[in-house]
Amino acid sequence: MPLKIAPATQSKFTKLGIHTPFDLVLHLPLRYEDETRITRIADLKPGESAQVEGEIIHSEVMYRPRRSLVCQLQDDSGILYLRFLNFYPSQQKQLAVGKRIRALGEPRMGFFGDEMVHPKCRVAGESVPLKQALTPVYPTTAGLPQATLTKHIHAALNELPLDDTLPQKILQRLHLPEFAASVRLLHQPPPDIDEDALLERAHPAWMRIKFDELLAQQLSMRVHYRERSRRVAPGLAAHNRLTDALLQDLPFALTGAQKKVWHEISTDLARPHPMQRLLQGDVGSGKTVVAALAALQAIENGYQVAFMAPTEILAEQHYLKLRDWLVPLGITPVWLSGSLKKKDKTAAAERIAQGDTMLAIGTHALFQNSVEFHKLGLVIVDEQHKFGVQQRLALRGKGAEPHQLMMSATPIPRTLAMSYYADLDVSVIDELPPGRTPIVTKLVSDARREEVFERVRAACLEGRQAYWVCPLIDESEALQLQTALETFATLTQIFPDLRIGLAHGKLSSTEKAETMAAFKAGELQLLVATTVIEVGVDVPNASLMVIDHAERMGLAQLHQLRGRVGRGAAESLCVLLFQQPLSELARARLKIIFENTDGFEIAQQDLRLRGPGELLGARQSGVPMLRFADLAEDDKLLDKARDIADEMLRDFPQEAQAHLQRWMANEPDYLRT
Ligand code: ADP
Ligand code: MG
Repeated sequence: MPLKIAPATQSKFTKLGIHTPFDLVLHLPLRYEDETRITRIADLKPGESAQVEGEIIHSEVMYRPRRSLVCQLQDDSGILYLRFLNFYPSQQKQLAVGKRIRALGEPRMGFFGDEMVHPKCRVAGESVPLKQALTPVYPTTAGLPQATLTKHIHAALNELPLDDTLPQKILQRLHLPEFAASVRLLHQPPPDIDEDALLERAHPAWMRIKFDELLAQQLSMRVHYRERSRRVAPGLAAHNRLTDALLQDLPFALTGAQKKVWHEISTDLARPHPMQRLLQGDVGSGKTVVAALAALQAIENGYQVAFMAPTEILAEQHYLKLRDWLVPLGITPVWLSGSLKKKDKTAAAERIAQGDTMLAIGTHALFQNSVEFHKLGLVIVDEQHKFGVQQRLALRGKGAEPHQLMMSATPIPRTLAMSYYADLDVSVIDELPPGRTPIVTKLVSDARREEVFERVRAACLEGRQAYWVCPLIDESEALQLQTALETFATLTQIFPDLRIGLAHGKLSSTEKAETMAAFKAGELQLLVATTVIEVGVDVPNASLMVIDHAERMGLAQLHQLRGRVGRGAAESLCVLLFQQPLSELARARLKIIFENTDGFEIAQQDLRLRGPGELLGARQSGVPMLRFADLAEDDKLLDKARDIADEMLRDFPQEAQAHLQRWMANEPDYLRT
């Protein structure tokens, strides 16, 4: 850094993510304090932060309702109580009777009358002029005072070139202010500024910053996308030999939506550039068969396919299903998962390496270093959102480039998809196969558990099948397992007349497979399970689902779980058992899941409820989060950023480069050009 910064300060900066002087420019205030004027005590409005000035006329330590320093501040319009729960003797001295004080805080109706709790106080007087600008309050960390931060930020603002990276022409069209003026305004807002707009980040200066951030993101994604179309992959032409044979054998016809996405994928595979396509479709929309068709098109061309799923149960289910579909066509898939015995794993890896098998199905074990493909042409990743972006990138980095088909049943709101998957092509299955009866959802308080037991028994005795999903225990797999075992024991006791199975993450893969097979075959009537069945499990005859302690689960998870039923013609019921009292968030979630069945709508509402970071699990997966823009609010700005990104790459490549440089200098490699 060219600016002089003490090493101790430097380490604090690092904590705040400030690595370059320019990062200081973008270290924008969280909020502002208005010390530019004095409000009369009589004019204070509850909840509206203001600064008052007056004389301390009373000061005393009180012990009720709890120990606190309570002062009375008087101006010519009235009296205000100042209350401090923690205070130092020095403060007591500062606030002694007779002192003239300026106090800044949020007034409210208090125990004694109008009061401010913990106002910011300073001694007033002729020699202390009012501030000329709103005072920014910066995000900071322990030991780094606001004043130090402010000093360095001002230095950066003065010394760095803050040239605009957007062409004038575009700025004018978008009615956005210049970059330099915007950051200066946000760091040092003039006294007459529209304060609400500033605080709500709706001021044009904020819009400019948010736009720049979104633009940088769109630019980097576009650059990445273009770069891919220069890379080489095997062209896998549609010969329609195996694919047509599978279509002939299927007991159903593809839906219109399946046909549409299959056409998109088939066309992409035939191109000599790596496909990176996300296949989105709500739970139960029939993505697996589309994946099978894609696999066959690769195999028709003599290329191998790797089909990966996030859990053993799901991978195994795919293995069994594809085996049923493909063995009649002369293709025998190989199964590979982490829990295979070493000997079997080696044997599977051998067959893959020799090219003895054209299709390998399994968990992420498929991509461990010991597995070398003979001639890999296509990678299919099911429930891609469970893997996260870094794994996506890791796959990309392996050897000669295969095509990639990623599938996800977690519908992603449009803004998120544009932001996080803008470097992918997207196909959407927006229709469910015919003959599905809508799922009825019921919210039932835990107090009525007995009734739910009765319902489960009745359904099973009628020949239907049911899931009982055990409560989620945060952060403890051991407890989770224990709860599953207990639930299983309890239910076995209550229903001596039912055949009950148990599925959880700690079973061996053989045990898991046996249990799932027995449930699928109808030998088990009730399956007690942990959330391992959350993704992908497909047993059409199961039509009742009970989710225990539903209030602990997230919306996407509830939607996925509920999607395990409603797959056959029978009317399905999903009972969400919840425990009182509900937190506000839990209540909001249950209301959404109760009122909506459409995954996209649920995802959109989830975004509003939780924000994008949690929705995507992005923090863990390494996606850089947006700092300023808000994907739930700024969708219009995002639309503009996307359009301008294309225009800049076309007409203003130098500016585009400069913009990326400015905003992405600290980002991981893959977002850079
Ligand atoms: P998901 O998209 O959730 O992965 P699946 O691929 O598991 O859904 O399909 C759900 C169920 O619908 C499966 O039993 C599958 O065989 C069936 N299915 C898929 N496509 C059709 C169709 N076009 N018509 C009828 N049933 C279908
Ligand atoms: Mg699936």
